[in-house]
Amino acid sequence: MAIDSPSTVAATPSSRYEHLRTEQLWQANWRSANAFATPLRSDDRADAYIFVAPPFTSGAIHIGHVRSYTLADAYARFCRSRGDAVLFALGFDAFGLPAELSALEHDEAPAAWVEHCRAQMRKQLEQLGYSFDWSRTFATSEPDMYKWTQWLFLKLLANDLIYARKAPVHWCRRCKTVLALAQVEAGCCWRCDEEVRLVDRRQWYLRLSAYNEENDQRIEELAGWNEPALTAQRALLGRIEGVECDAFALDGRSLAVFTPYADGIADAEFIAISPNHPELGRWVVDNQGPTIDAMNMQQVRHGAHGDSAKMHGVIATAVALQIAGGLRPLPLVVSPYVDARFGPTASIGIPTRDATDKMLAANINIEPTILPWQLKLKEPAVRRAVRYRAADFPISRQRAWGTPIPVIYCEACGTVPVPLEHLPVELPKDLTVSATGNTLATRLDFVDCACPVCSRRARRETDTLDCHMDATWIEMPHAVPREKRREAMFDDPELARWLPVSQFIHGADTGGFVLTERMMAKTLRDQGVLRFLPSGEPYGPTLMHEMVTLSGRKMSKHLGDAVTAQEMVDTFGADALRFATLYAAAPARSFNWNEDVLRYSSAFLTELWGYAEPRLHPDSGLTPALPIEQSDYLRRKLASWCRTAVKRITANFETLEMQRATRNVILFLGRIKDFERRVIARRHALDEYDERAIVFALELLIRLMAPISPHIAEELWRQAGLRESLLVSSWPVVEAVVERS
Ligand SMILES: [Zn+2]
Ligand SMILES: [Zn+2]
Repeated sequence: MAIDSPSTVAATPSSRYEHLRTEQLWQANWRSANAFATPLRSDDRADAYIFVAPPFTSGAIHIGHVRSYTLADAYARFCRSRGDAVLFALGFDAFGLPAELSALEHDEAPAAWVEHCRAQMRKQLEQLGYSFDWSRTFATSEPDMYKWTQWLFLKLLANDLIYARKAPVHWCRRCKTVLALAQVEAGCCWRCDEEVRLVDRRQWYLRLSAYNEENDQRIEELAGWNEPALTAQRALLGRIEGVECDAFALDGRSLAVFTPYADGIADAEFIAISPNHPELGRWVVDNQGPTIDAMNMQQVRHGAHGDSAKMHGVIATAVALQIAGGLRPLPLVVSPYVDARFGPTASIGIPTRDATDKMLAANINIEPTILPWQLKLKEPAVRRAVRYRAADFPISRQRAWGTPIPVIYCEACGTVPVPLEHLPVELPKDLTVSATGNTLATRLDFVDCACPVCSRRARRETDTLDCHMDATWIEMPHAVPREKRREAMFDDPELARWLPVSQFIHGADTGGFVLTERMMAKTLRDQGVLRFLPSGEPYGPTLMHEMVTLSGRKMSKHLGDAVTAQEMVDTFGADALRFATLYAAAPARSFNWNEDVLRYSSAFLTELWGYAEPRLHPDSGLTPALPIEQSDYLRRKLASWCRTAVKRITANFETLEMQRATRNVILFLGRIKDFERRVIARRHALDEYDERAIVFALELLIRLMAPISPHIAEELWRQAGLRESLLVSSWPVVEAVVERS
């Protein structure tokens, strides 16, 4: 049977491509075959753990998620096809403010709301054809999960890596609640517009700074990280080199002060201390508290990087800086500008050298200090020093929907950690939330307990952990089968099998999480848990991709105008959407979403179907394809194109250059059509060898594009009479493509 030439193809009735039907069919096939189950360990297959960060459980998958997960899914499918044993799963970040607020908005209990959202998101993700192993999923709000977040909290507390200190929090007196920074809008409560006040509260802090040095040094060892991912880690750590010397109070107490300008110390005009300096209380007299609060408020309103002239500092006291030749009296200024540059430290203000110091000096109205110092000191000791911007951060929040902090307050014994064998400390099953106050604090069935030490009546901590804390070990749960998570997590042998992550893909908005995950893996190593990970680095090769913007703004759950993926899948199909998000831009570039690229991708897939489907028809007797017969010049040319396509597209997948992969797929189809056109132009008709050559090339194209748009690839493969799913077809290799004759 002869294959129609291009001019007659259009006239031949061929089945129209129906994306909805095809996609549903193949998703059902994959489900019933349990096609993406994590394989058992075997000696003849390499293990590959492909990890993407879990979404907030908001209920809607948006185009930003689609970009991240399509990159990862295409890579996961490629790895399976090349023979790897792949772990690819998705969890849900289900605790915290976004979930709590949307539960409130829908008048639901948060547990029920999160469950509803999770089911809805899973359905959307399945409709996109993602090959997640759903048997490995998790939600951070499951007791089997937060048990281990609590376990970690206690381990870190025992090792002084979590500590409590007083810190200002944002308080709305009308709503009687502490507000998260995201809920403070221009200094006012997001809900009632009341001016937000700062009140001091005891907060739990994670001592991230303990691992700053190691996290910084190991950046050099991170192999296979793309440059943006490395740059993000360096920027978050904010390492700065300089020198340190001492300043003194009148009574001789000393304060270590830092500057990056070793040769500028003689020009010092003031000392600036961070409002978050651990020793601030020793240097600021009590009645200055409100002023510093007001300054913190400025920081909230304008951001520490703001250039508002009002952003300044408060003169707290005077100190004497020890410089060559004696002591120089200088004012000590509390200023949030220190943090943004050097972290929570004290720095030497040198206006002649530093633009920020110059701006500060101009705004603070510094007057000469006239106090005399009478200290007998040794020679000044100027030492080399390093500072990091990355600071310890508060992990407690005064809201109900979060991991309960496993601490008990007893009048006789003080602060008592919950014994490990009593974990998890569970939230009440019927917990509801309220816009005002923390409902957990009103639940006596939760609050009242017996002291683990003296058995007297005691009360539980009612602050919960920030969801950032839940995420500090977020790459680990997938590795452990669900049914084992209650009993063991960090010492499960599967962790050693899957860590470090073989390929991590994350968006540019999550670099901060990655830094804390790197920190937490090191603390676990130092606890003797992750002994198989001496570097304490949980991530192997890492791709940080840029964001999708919409009219110039980042799309995320914070924006109400995020385009939902659902509508686009309904209209154009999952394959077209997947193709479009990869085609739109290289991963390291952001792109502004518009539907043109989606229309183009959809048109390409329709064109592919229209060309390939009649040619791959099993009645043609040409499938499965035989290697290309190469006695003819044009067929030799096509064979060469086949080899090039395999070589290039394989390399594109290996290096996650998915945008290039889509372009090479388009190019390859163009070349196959070009072959046909040239044969007809030269010899007026295709002979059987030409037809076979086309079928061979099309089968190859389908296999090469399957990771990108898997449904249409499967359906064409089936059309060709190749009954096995593409999932069991191995990745084509160049040598096997065409036998040279
Ligand atoms: Zn309010
Ligand atoms: Zn007690």
